[in-house]
Amino acid sequence: MKLARFGEDRLGIVRDDVIVDVTDVAGIASGEWPPVGMNRLISDFGALKQKLERAASGQGVPLSSVRLLTPVPWPSKVVAYPVNYHDHGAEMHVGYRADNQGFFLKPPSSISGPNDPIVLPVNAGRRIDHECELAIVIGKECRDVPRERHREYIFGYSCLIDAVVRGKEERVARKAFDTFCPVGPWIVTEDEIGEAAAELQGTLWVNGEVKQDANTRDLVLDIPGMIEMASSIMTLYPGDIIATGTPAGV
Ligand code: MN
Repeated sequence: MKLARFGEDRLGIVRDDVIVDVTDVAGIASGEWPPVGMNRLISDFGALKQKLERAASGQGVPLSSVRLLTPVPWPSKVVAYPVNYHDHGAEMHVGYRADNQGFFLKPPSSISGPNDPIVLPVNAGRRIDHECELAIVIGKECRDVPRERHREYIFGYSCLIDAVVRGKEERVARKAFDTFCPVGPWIVTEDEIGEAAAELQGTLWVNGEVKQDANTRDLVLDIPGMIEMASSIMTLYPGDIIATGTPAGV
């Protein structure tokens, strides 16, 4: 199932090139603040799944006619792994890797939609990079997840750009600007990916030119390892997002 938010805070299921509005079926209060309808849906997904699947066969509108929003606008945190591909470590001339460095956090307020502009800080005058990453969306509250059980806690996957101003300041300060974390265009649920998560190709183009093109099989710390490490330090909640690190080509 492909779950998206669109328009004025509506929830939709994407079916080929149409999107079906399932906001009411999911019991989401459109426009509520804080916008945690998707978190609640993820948390209650087991009970809602059949109803959603039935609703998804209904009439939709062309996907191209709606404005997509980011699928989880209010996660409790975005966990992000730095230097999780060897070739990116080499291009940045750093010796550490995600498996021994740990992770940092991006604020939920940096999240933006898949078609929204990344707004550059006007006073930066600095190098600003895109980082093409796979996003893991957590499905269940968890702590101390052993790697062999990681799939039980993944709700699904999405695409993410971890934008960054290069420089010497704390990493968080350089990665926390509003719009510096586009996520979308939707969440693909875990059951549609399964073991294939270990070999997903991610590609980023700038004006039609391929800049980043890599496979999750080349991750230094793999998906089970990332969930194991993050959950060994803090509780993960439904809707939490893990940014899995970027390959070379920034
Ligand atoms: Mn990154």
